[in-house]
Amino acid sequence: MINETMYGYGASKSSIREIAAYGAARKAQIGAENVFDFSLGNPSVPAPAEVAASLKASAELPPAQVHGYTPANGLPACREAVAASLSRRFSAEMGERPVADADDLYITCGAAASLTITLHAVTNPGDEVIVIAPYFPEYRVWIETCGCTCVEVMADASTFQIDADAVAAAVTERTAAVIIDSPNNPVGTVYTRETLEKLAAALERRGQETGHPIYLISDEPYREITYGAEVPWVPAIYERTIVCYSYSKSLSLPGERIGWVLVPPTNPEHDRLVPTVAGAGRTLGFVCAPAIFQRVLIDCVDVPSDVDAYARNREALTRGLAEAGYEYIEPAGAFYLWVKALELDASAFFERAKAHELLPVPSDSFGCPGWVRVGYCVSYETIVNSMPAWQALAAEYK
Ligand code: PLP
Repeated sequence: MINETMYGYGASKSSIREIAAYGAARKAQIGAENVFDFSLGNPSVPAPAEVAASLKASAELPPAQVHGYTPANGLPACREAVAASLSRRFSAEMGERPVADADDLYITCGAAASLTITLHAVTNPGDEVIVIAPYFPEYRVWIETCGCTCVEVMADASTFQIDADAVAAAVTERTAAVIIDSPNNPVGTVYTRETLEKLAAALERRGQETGHPIYLISDEPYREITYGAEVPWVPAIYERTIVCYSYSKSLSLPGERIGWVLVPPTNPEHDRLVPTVAGAGRTLGFVCAPAIFQRVLIDCVDVPSDVDAYARNREALTRGLAEAGYEYIEPAGAFYLWVKALELDASAFFERAKAHELLPVPSDSFGCPGWVRVGYCVSYETIVNSMPAWQALAAEYK
């Protein structure tokens, strides 16, 4: 007998990928320049030159040294480089407390692996995990695969910041963890220090009331992609935080699969949690993260993300859509614009957008009605050339 649950996950593709597949087929039919595909979060900015230089240097090393297994938690030099970088960047926020030691890190195959490992580490079947809607749809898949229930809590309806009171109300004695992601996919919000402090206070209080401490899983693949906003270091605000990170977006390496899990030393269960994370990585069969890209991190951990191209796209898209009469949430980070659908049913609005060769993602995919996500990690020309189509779509609703 095959596993029907796995069949279900495989047979029903993610709607984002289905839209992207439709976009690729449509481009083949009518020409790539005539289709405005805003569906995927695949960075349009190339990986920095330092990445290519590091790969070239690895090619000069003895093959066994480059292609061999690494320790399951990653090359010591890689973990040391990442820990030193984090300490340089966040020690001011941590005050006297340490930020990260090399042994607190577990190098992974990207944020997806970081999250599945972390969820397996801090939950038991029957537990509940809270997500802030709208949310990255794969969270639900990863939570359910741990035998847990995904509990959706809507963000504040006007700011899309976390509604700490609503989170507190959703906590039960079964709540094991809350996942947050800032800068946020799909909305582009960056959670303010005040938002995070309120959330931390709510989790402390509810954890004490239920007698069941709650983990805060901070998923941060967009940390470096911001337009001036401060992205607070979450472990400085809530001790029981685990940070999940990836270089998919910051260094434009999504196909290479490289990231990490950090169990901050301040975590009350740190000494048992570090081997638990390793155990989850082992049982999930990850073995180790790609060796060559662990070496890339040694060389490139402090290379800045190239945010200028996204900033230019963001400006052109928001200006164009505002002129055409659309409402949206001003994005403080990431490369997504959250645009109000021009009718209540986001899927119906998407179908009408599709007729104009516009491919955003309807918000129902993210657990929230009435909006679409427009990914602006595309070429500048795609944004500029799509404007007549956005205008024609808006005109249909006048
Ligand atoms: N978390 C969020 C919020 C994302 O947007 C993504 C990818 O788009 C991931 C996790 C997975 O990232 P990775 O490619 O590093 O696995």
